[in-house]
Amino acid sequence: MQISCSDVRRELANYMEDDVDAELRSRIERHFRECDGCYALYDSIREVVRLVATTDIIELPAGFSRRLYERLSTISS
Ligand SMILES: [Zn+2]
Repeated sequence: MQISCSDVRRELANYMEDDVDAELRSRIERHFRECDGCYALYDSIREVVRLVATTDIIELPAGFSRRLYERLSTISS
């Protein structure tokens, strides 16, 4: 079963916060292998989150990556 780019982008924040079930996780990962656009989006968000997490001494507030994702997806759409 295929999932669409909009499904992946809607679930991406949940996926990155480990808040998806195993089936959805594997479908998203399969989509990344087939879709450069979604993988690039995921990769860029992951990189930003990593940079913030390693350079900032305070812990990320809950929902931070979700808000970041929403901001980035507004820019990139
Ligand atoms: Zn896609």
